[in-house]
Amino acid sequence: MWRATILTLFPEMFPGPLGLSLAGDALARGVWALETRQIREHGIGRHRAVDDTPAGGGPGMVMRADVLAAAIDAAADENDPRPRLLMSPRGRPLTQARVRDLAQGPGAVILCARFEGVDERIIAARRLEEVSIGDYILSGGEVAAFALMDACVRLLPGVMGEELSGEEESFETGLLEYPHYTRPRDFEGRPIPEILLSGDHAKIAKWRHEQALALTRARRPDLLARGKE
Ligand code: SAH
Repeated sequence: MWRATILTLFPEMFPGPLGLSLAGDALARGVWALETRQIREHGIGRHRAVDDTPAGGGPGMVMRADVLAAAIDAAADENDPRPRLLMSPRGRPLTQARVRDLAQGPGAVILCARFEGVDERIIAARRLEEVSIGDYILSGGEVAAFALMDACVRLLPGVMGEELSGEEESFETGLLEYPHYTRPRDFEGRPIPEILLSGDHAKIAKWRHEQALALTRARRPDLLARGKE
């Protein structure tokens, strides 16, 4: 079973959106498991402090390495085979390829930070892999963890109804996906492209590939360049 352990100051956020729909059904069926750990349980003193002021000054607060180490060690021992991920805007941007790798593995231990982030020393001390979900700043790692888990869980065997629909999607082919249409045949004077109604599957496949290529060229030329590397 694919297992996610979330270290967070807000365990009540989970499973949240992952308790519904495909991911939620799969969770209920035991295809995957989600466990949350309250970082504050390892906080310091009567107030269970988890953060402190930044060394060298500056705004905001930084999560303490000793508190995070205790939280990580309690959640995943040395022999736990799961990768330890730190959600972080400084991380390697998450890709479908990395998602596929993670989905094929045993799960993940995911540290969700808050405030200005974590004391740098915890990253090496607990071999954390920093993962970003994009070039913008969230208020905490929880929403990023949702995105990562959602992307992984839908790839687990038995989660998506039609196995194939996972493989034709954007990024799996290195291209953005071709456009979709469904009924009605005419929507406010906009017809479905004639070729899709032709029944000629070879022509349709060719048309879709051309559309995908044109869209990718126009919107994400970086994806085409990446394919050639
Ligand atoms: N001061 C930091 C931002 C901290 S935001 C900086 O400028 O880089 C607080 C926390 O939210 C981060 O520590 C991280 O856990 C999470 N977070 C914010 N943006 C994220 C992103 N794009 N991807 C993944 N996690 C993110």
